[in-house]
Amino acid sequence: MAAILITGGAGFLGSYVCERLLALGHSVVAFDMSNGEKIEHLLSNPSFRFVQDSILNAPALEREIDRSDIVVHFAAIADPKRYVMEPLVTLQIDLQGALNVFQMASKRKAKVIFASTSEVYGKNPRVPWKETDDRVLGSTHVNRWCYATAKAAGEHYCYAYHQSEGMTFVTYRFFNVYGPRLDDLGSGRVLPIFLKQCLQDEPITIHGDGSQTRTFVYVEDAADGVVRGMFEKQAENQVFNIGSSQELSILELAQKLKEVGKFSSSITTVTHQEVFGNSYEDIPRRVPDVSKSKKILKWEATTSIEDGLFKTIEYYRRRSQGQCAQV
Ligand code: UDP
Repeated sequence: MAAILITGGAGFLGSYVCERLLALGHSVVAFDMSNGEKIEHLLSNPSFRFVQDSILNAPALEREIDRSDIVVHFAAIADPKRYVMEPLVTLQIDLQGALNVFQMASKRKAKVIFASTSEVYGKNPRVPWKETDDRVLGSTHVNRWCYATAKAAGEHYCYAYHQSEGMTFVTYRFFNVYGPRLDDLGSGRVLPIFLKQCLQDEPITIHGDGSQTRTFVYVEDAADGVVRGMFEKQAENQVFNIGSSQELSILELAQKLKEVGKFSSSITTVTHQEVFGNSYEDIPRRVPDVSKSKKILKWEATTSIEDGLFKTIEYYRRRSQGQCAQV
């Protein structure tokens, strides 16, 4: 059994990965600056420990990495509103924090599992994207691209540390992971925003005309992919797309949400500029090619969008009625 450190382990996807690793009998430390609400239910497990700290606190991070066989690096600022509004903090955490992890894990000879993002493909118009496809990014004066740039630099660091220091890694590019515990209702990513609007019977605010597309992968499926690759020899020192193949426009997502949750909200549009000013540029289509993950990880998303939305709606409904904590 392995000693596994998860930076960002008290975050959304991290909390599900902690659950899975504990169920497999590993010892798990979640290193996270949040208040730990999402992993409260794990605190009584003797194989689990929560360290509330920042990955920019190098001595604290090193103390934990020095006791680990595997370091899963999930801690990052990944919320579009935050990286548009706070680019400096985003770069510090997503770039300097990652560098801390790679340096220390490399010294310790621990395996690194790195959370990257579908954002690294940028706005490449030729979907679906294979892991080897080009990155097409906008100009640096648009804050939106600082997140994609930091994550892509993290990927380069993985290859470079592998080449120069023999570090072993697996990198995942996640495509719009969703499910219970995502963000607070009304904030962060598109689903909690739409859901708050639906639950309060307010209009759903579509940015632009709603023709931009995404694929949404249910969090339990994504956590399954993460854990499979972590222990798969053939996956070492490679990058994998973790996403669903079902492409949906944001307008279709709003309609599906209304249908599955039986909501009566109307649908309205606002321009991107009204929401983000000039520091944002949307991605017209985002679709992964998951053939490599299927072949090497023996993984694909299996939860239908209807089932995943149903579970997510039920969770947020209970939370909005004060009937459940984060879990
Ligand atoms: N979006 C929207 N209305 C909202 C929030 C988001 O139409 O209130 C759109 C957003 O402009 C983007 C898509 O939903 O096209 C997904 O946004 P999200 O913030 O979840 O992350 P992204 O996939 O862009 O990284």
